Amino acid sequence: MKLSELGEFGLISKIRKSFSRPSPRMLLGIGDDAAALRIAPSRTLLATTDMLLEGVHFDLALTDPYSLGWKSAAVNISDIAAMGGIPRFCLISLGIPAAFSVDDMTEFYRGFDTLARIHGCLIAGGDTCASRKDLVVSITVLGESEKNALLPRSGARPGDRIFVTGTLGDSAAGLALLRKRSRKGSRSGRCSGNAGSGRYGAGEGRLIRKHLRPEPRVAEGRSLARARCASSLIDVSDGLSSDLLHICEESGVGAEIYADAIPLSADLLQNSRQIATTPRDHALSGGEDYELLFTVPERKLKAFRSLGLEASEIGVIRRKKGAVLVLTDGRRTELPPKGYDHFRRR
Ligand code: ADP
Ligand code: MG
Repeated sequence: MKLSELGEFGLISKIRKSFSRPSPRMLLGIGDDAAALRIAPSRTLLATTDMLLEGVHFDLALTDPYSLGWKSAAVNISDIAAMGGIPRFCLISLGIPAAFSVDDMTEFYRGFDTLARIHGCLIAGGDTCASRKDLVVSITVLGESEKNALLPRSGARPGDRIFVTGTLGDSAAGLALLRKRSRKGSRSGRCSGNAGSGRYGAGEGRLIRKHLRPEPRVAEGRSLARARCASSLIDVSDGLSSDLLHICEESGVGAEIYADAIPLSADLLQNSRQIATTPRDHALSGGEDYELLFTVPERKLKAFRSLGLEASEIGVIRRKKGAVLVLTDGRRTELPPKGYDHFRRR
């Protein structure tokens, strides 16, 4: 069978079925944003790894090394945020092509370290190799969480309300803007290094910044974990439609999303004419927003609201499997996972 038929998530599921062994020390293994490992009775070690490949995850004509470093740290720290955990240490493994200079690598590390330090995450090691062609970045982040404060993907129950922090679709719109400008030839070679400024209008700049320098929602994840009011949590890395389905599959439930409630930024709406896809489609399938998507049981809504988190209620968990989008006029359409799949895209 070809990998394109199985898909990225089909492959992971096959690996999980064949090689994942239960252990009392492994609270969560394959299938969540980070593995949760019991290292002491009251402490849980969180471990996550994510790779960024040139030509797949980033284009060096559209990003500068500083932003790439920042984003490499951000997408990994976001997986610790998605467990409600505290990021502590990271390992950076690099395959570096000859075209990369020492200055480029220094900028990469400056960007990485700036974002990592904001979240108290220290660089603890890594690995360095020469790469024949493309730049390869592989990051591992280790974090911790308290006993009983883990927020897995698997706890959503029928009736739970669905929330998302911030706004969705901005990152995908930022990428579309960068690509459009690049095609027009207004950008040549590498990006200026000043994410979101310079030749762009303020709104465009904010969309581009959201793409190049995402901000992981660590404080929000911690707040939800400490209050113990969320039943499931994931970060929106693949796109709302796909990440919602991860929660549904892991929890054995379905979901209803209200199209009108999906939070869209004024920047996205104002710049929608420049971007081929509609703002809502960007929000549903764009990905890379690194916002938190989570569910709250009805009995915990009051406690949740008292946290004062900036989050929008976008739907409800249902018993019936699958995800449904409820449109303004009440019509219901299936919401297939349209986010990123590494093997199905080609
Ligand atoms: P995320 O988008 O949150 O980074 P992924 O979709 O990359 O999550 O991974 C989903 C789950 O599958 C995670 O628990 C991850 O550790 C696991 N996983 C992904 N690839 C592999 C692999 N090659 N072998 C074992 N587990 C994997
Ligand atoms: Mg994740």
